[in-house]
Amino acid sequence: MSGWDSEVDVAVVGGGACGVMTALRAARNPGLVVAVFEKSTRDGCNAAISSGSLAAGGTRFQAAAGIEDSPRRHADDILAASGDEEWRPVVEALCAAAPEFVEWIADTGYPVEIGADMPRAGMSAPRLHTDTGRLGGGRLMRHLRALLDGHDNVAFVDEAPVVGLVVEGGEVTGVVVMQNGAAQRVRAQTVVLASDGFAGSPTLVEEHLSHLGAPFYGGVSSATGDALAWVLPLGARLRNMGAGLRSGLVVVGHGTRVSPALPFNGAVLVNLAGERFVDEESKGYSSMAGILQGQPGERAALIWDATAMAATRESEMMRESLAAGAVRDHPSLEGLAADLGRTAEETERLLAPLPGRRALTAPYHLAWVTHGLLASQGGVVTDPSGRVLDASGAPIPRLYAGGGTACGLAGPHSDGYLSGNGLLSAFGMGWIIGNGLAAGTG
Ligand SMILES: Cc1cc2nc3c(=O)[nH]c(=O)nc-3n(C[C@H](O)[C@H](O)[C@H](O)COP(=O)(O)OP(=O)(O)OC[C@H]3O[C@@H](n4cnc5c(N)ncnc54)[C@H](O)[C@@H]3O)c2cc1C
Repeated sequence: MSGWDSEVDVAVVGGGACGVMTALRAARNPGLVVAVFEKSTRDGCNAAISSGSLAAGGTRFQAAAGIEDSPRRHADDILAASGDEEWRPVVEALCAAAPEFVEWIADTGYPVEIGADMPRAGMSAPRLHTDTGRLGGGRLMRHLRALLDGHDNVAFVDEAPVVGLVVEGGEVTGVVVMQNGAAQRVRAQTVVLASDGFAGSPTLVEEHLSHLGAPFYGGVSSATGDALAWVLPLGARLRNMGAGLRSGLVVVGHGTRVSPALPFNGAVLVNLAGERFVDEESKGYSSMAGILQGQPGERAALIWDATAMAATRESEMMRESLAAGAVRDHPSLEGLAADLGRTAEETERLLAPLPGRRALTAPYHLAWVTHGLLASQGGVVTDPSGRVLDASGAPIPRLYAGGGTACGLAGPHSDGYLSGNGLLSAFGMGWIIGNGLAAGTG
């Protein structure tokens, strides 16, 4: 083992959604030694600050609720939103994995339920699964990381950023990890890049996402796209680098988000010019961000009422916004009008429901919302089993990528992002890669 500080079978770069799932699945093979190198759990992963909503079509939870759905229908919805038919094989592989990994997560003791009350634009069936307490991704990641403790053949190494790949004779043979200020060379049969995307890197955002303006950044600081610079010299290709997971539900001055289900419960948007400017139900939160970017002051007032509040308040997003004081309460139309800088008559007209929608009644709630960037969606091209491909479409031996490191499911534009795509890419590809490695077919 000359020149090496240690040796493993599988080196996973990043201990977030994709990395932990890869390790859990690969470790079922007791003959494999797996190491997860995590930059810093203190800085955190996007999965842990996410809502933890898991999109899956055709689960037993849906069946029990009488919801008809399937992986095929899920894939078709994603592709209808993204228009990215070239990516169909990857999308179909992930959607096929989704019911399996969601049910498996539940079988490990995590309290999963179908979010029948979580409608989202572009989703033809209720498909978001969540924890029963609606506590979000932090709870889920704590649960999954704790499961790693049950495997003697996995090491989760924290405060251990990977700073590069070891490449010998054109082959990836390991990773370089920083530990306690020293570089360690870790030999690995297989390297899995699960270090997320680049939305936390101002340089890469300027290079690829400058058209998004100056959004609030709502992701973790660790998402700096480290792996991108390592794979390009190997001939890997990047794709859809101009797409992001955006949110048009970020509360101005607070950075918290309000529930995407509010528009489906009658909430209306009014801009600073006193105009309704969009059919609130028709847009996903990622594409709503682009619409808000084009409004005066890049913001609008989102207004809802007690009925809408009751239907949405049990979510980590609403709890955080309410705790932060990001929501203003107005017992009467007059108070709401004063907040908007409009007359009561104008405000009444502005609240008029679109055809077929419910009418809001006092008391009202208001949050000024703007656009934010949560994560990048462009990344490394892989095949449906997660192998990183070179420009000719051939797999680069021993190298895999998943989650935000890989090309996502939104297509070329942020508008194509469908709710749940992020964790689907991450857990789904971790599931596929880890299963393949455990079976020796990876
Ligand atoms: C606020 C918010 C809400 C969201 N809500 C949802 C949702 O409800 N549903 C959904 O599907 N998606 C959601 N997403 C998107 C989802 O969180 C991401 O798509 C997903 O977490 C990506 O998984 P990942 O494993 O690639 O990255 P992460 O979960 O971010 O994990 C990557 C890990 O890699 C580590 N890392 C980075 N660089 C290195 C390095 N050089 N060496 C070692 N380790 C490294 C990081 O520290 C991190 O722990 C949300 C995102 C945000 C920001």
